[in-house]
Amino acid sequence: MLKPDTYMLRFGELALKGKNQKLFVDDLIRIIKPRIKKIDGRVEKGHKRLLLHTDASPEDVREAMSTVFGIVGISPIWRTKADMAAIKEVAWTLLEPYKDSGKTFAIRAKRGVKNMPLTSPEIQRQVADHVLGNGLDLPVDLKHADLPLHISLDVKGAWLHLETWKCLGGLPVRPRDRMGLLISGGIDSPVAGNLMQKRGAWLTGIYFHTPPYTVEAAKDKVIELAEVLARYQNKLNLFVVNFTEVMQTIRAECAPAATVVLSRRMMMRAASRIMDRVRGKALITGECLGQVASQTIENIGVIEEGVPYPVLRPLISMDKREIITLSERMGAYDISIRPAQDCCALFSPKDPLTKARVSDMHEQEARLDIDGLIGRALDLTEIIELYPPCKDPALSE
Ligand code: ATP
Ligand code: MG
Repeated sequence: MLKPDTYMLRFGELALKGKNQKLFVDDLIRIIKPRIKKIDGRVEKGHKRLLLHTDASPEDVREAMSTVFGIVGISPIWRTKADMAAIKEVAWTLLEPYKDSGKTFAIRAKRGVKNMPLTSPEIQRQVADHVLGNGLDLPVDLKHADLPLHISLDVKGAWLHLETWKCLGGLPVRPRDRMGLLISGGIDSPVAGNLMQKRGAWLTGIYFHTPPYTVEAAKDKVIELAEVLARYQNKLNLFVVNFTEVMQTIRAECAPAATVVLSRRMMMRAASRIMDRVRGKALITGECLGQVASQTIENIGVIEEGVPYPVLRPLISMDKREIITLSERMGAYDISIRPAQDCCALFSPKDPLTKARVSDMHEQEARLDIDGLIGRALDLTEIIELYPPCKDPALSE
């Protein structure tokens, strides 16, 4: 009885109404399957929760679930017989480490079945008397206890839990909500992708590289960042699109000041074609209003003009500090700040347009064979399949 063998995975209240609940649970089970396989676990469906049975250590369980959206908390459960002596013993084992901690505690009992002669308040009182008698030197606080010890009784026996680890919350990622993340090697786009994963998006990464103007190290960085995002899915496909000809042609044919906006419009076109192919539903960018000259509201409007998919920009209102905090939390920051030249001076005009106009862009684009350029770029696309560390392709997607 030294460590728990069952963990309660709590859903929270979101998306639990009606038919959605079954879909939600299926999505969650799909995403945790490879993770629990790694810790030799088994899940059981319960009401508004899943039970995970495993002999792995609590640390390993926590680690395995640390990249799962859709779980708000995990409680390690100690199971014992529906017998007062057994319950008291477990209660003491759980509370003893805190006996001089200065925290407040409470005992909360709930009987799912009436298989005990005692009522819930009687169970609470007896257990409290027992732990206090054993030397638990803590005040009781029935409403806001730091250490609420829960005792539930059902046909299988008694279940006790003291802690609930806070988890990511959100909704489970699901392949039917596939979205294309325009990912570059910077800080912003991986955070944007992770925020959408939190709302259930299953990401496909899309990176535009421009060899030899952008170095191989820049691509490696993007792959590493995509690997961080893959931890939150069971598999992530990264499309690496060769944009060299597109960039060279824009540079040769169009007004230098328009390079950034024109190249972004080309990226949107290519990304939309990839969404057609993978049946995606939206595009995601790391754009943030006013962060750089190209991210004015005028340019953002021009960049998304004609895009047949919704363009989601979860960072639009954030400031850099908030974005960095999220980047650190998801484990991307150290990779993102690694120097690697990801944009060539050749394609960054000194004086970029800050107030592009759609009609001007159409005029510039009339000089380009858009379909041919996009078609050839897509033909030169490499698809890199990335898996979380619990790699098991058989269980993916
Ligand atoms: P990031 O930190 O994500 O690199 P940024 O602050 O450097 O963003 P921009 O370079 O203006 O901003 O890019 C805005 C967004 O356009 C990026 O967040 C990304 O979604 C997309 N993007 C830019 N360059 C590329 C690229 N080479 N490949 C894919 N997406 C790109
Ligand atoms: Mg960038």
